[in-house]
Amino acid sequence: MTAPTRDRYRIIIVGGGVVGLFTSYHLARAGAGPILVVERGFLSSGASGRNGGGVRQQWETRATVRLAREAVGEYRRFGREFGLNPYFRQGGYLFLAESPSEAERLRAVHAIVASEGLPSRLLRPEDVARIAPDVARDRVIAASYLASDGTLYPFPVLWGLYERVRALGVEVLLGVEAAGVVRTEGRAGGIVTASGPIAAERVVNAAGGWSAEFSRRAGLEPANAPTRHEILATEPVRPFLDPMVIRLSDGLYVSQTMRGELVGGRTMPHPPGTAGGMSTSVDLLPAMARSLVDLLPRTAPLRILRAWSGYYDDSPDGLPIIGEDPRLPGFVQANGFGGHGFMLAPASTRRVAQAVLGERSDLDPATFGPARFLDPDRPSTPERLQPG
Ligand SMILES: Cc1cc2nc3c(=O)[nH]c(=O)nc-3n(C[C@H](O)[C@H](O)[C@H](O)COP(=O)(O)OP(=O)(O)OC[C@H]3O[C@@H](n4cnc5c(N)ncnc54)[C@H](O)[C@@H]3O)c2cc1C
Repeated sequence: MTAPTRDRYRIIIVGGGVVGLFTSYHLARAGAGPILVVERGFLSSGASGRNGGGVRQQWETRATVRLAREAVGEYRRFGREFGLNPYFRQGGYLFLAESPSEAERLRAVHAIVASEGLPSRLLRPEDVARIAPDVARDRVIAASYLASDGTLYPFPVLWGLYERVRALGVEVLLGVEAAGVVRTEGRAGGIVTASGPIAAERVVNAAGGWSAEFSRRAGLEPANAPTRHEILATEPVRPFLDPMVIRLSDGLYVSQTMRGELVGGRTMPHPPGTAGGMSTSVDLLPAMARSLVDLLPRTAPLRILRAWSGYYDDSPDGLPIIGEDPRLPGFVQANGFGGHGFMLAPASTRRVAQAVLGERSDLDPATFGPARFLDPDRPSTPERLQPG
């Protein structure tokens, strides 16, 4: 579908990635239609079709642990509700520390996660061998592990959402760009497209790595910014790696899919912005080869099948930006998810939907709301456990 069936909606969502589609799902379930989602590319053209599929509940921030735990429950039920199996495999997440400060960070994470009732474990290097025997442990001094974390295939999630929301009456336009926001009496009153304006009572900015750009199109200076992240997949080999493994020192994350490929990335020094495009840099392959073989020596003979990249949408404090923007009533921010929007989407978009409907949610606006960046003196509660 590329043309809207009406000229006025109650809600328009800009961006048809996992955040936009899940938001439309919660809103449709709440009977909040008519709802329009506009996506300028194809389904999965953004980060939602380019990520590592990692779903973890180990965080420094208590509210994020709760969102992630709820999301794990939703992904476990996803097949039943949406009719497609995302193959959510709970093989655990294993974080590795190589320095006292990294070990201290993992201890703090473990304390928060365990106090939320999740059976996270702090491991000694010798315990790591029982969970991931092929991981090189010579520099590892501590690790944290939660068995119910895991990985999934992102595409069935998008396809399942796409079919389900349309069955619930949501219109999803693919190949349609929101070029701007209609302002009506100081409020967001719809969007502008190449075919003309479309009116709405509320506009949701779920444009992922382009949400800062879309905020600017609405006349708002954004706090978030996109950064390119690269990722690759090797040829498939016999399964040997159960958990997603993350090394804090170089931001390396790697998991093995059910087909046997190793999928992962690492921190690369890309500056913020979209100027470099979603390409693969020549530096990725040697950097990843070094990191991967160092962590998993048995990967040395493996060939790389493909590499690609996408944008993290980074907020200054590493936490999502959720809520109505006080500078433009009717304009709701649903972005700033960094490298974690897929794992947080099912739960966080329920709160986005509440914000759209003017309902209170359990999220503290001082921690998640867009207004937190408008006061330079506000105390910040950053989430710094960023890789994977
Ligand atoms: C390499 C990589 C690895 C990652 N690994 C993980 C992981 O393991 N686990 C995890 O949870 N997360 C991971 N992420 C992050 C995760 O993919 C994102 O946080 C999540 O997909 C964001 O979803 P979204 O819907 O906000 O954005 P997107 O999926 O990017 O969707 C936004 C959409 O908006 C559209 N759009 C933009 N501007 C406009 C406009 N003006 N008009 C209409 N449409 C517009 C875009 O075309 C895009 O499709 C990773 C990301 C990358 C790049």
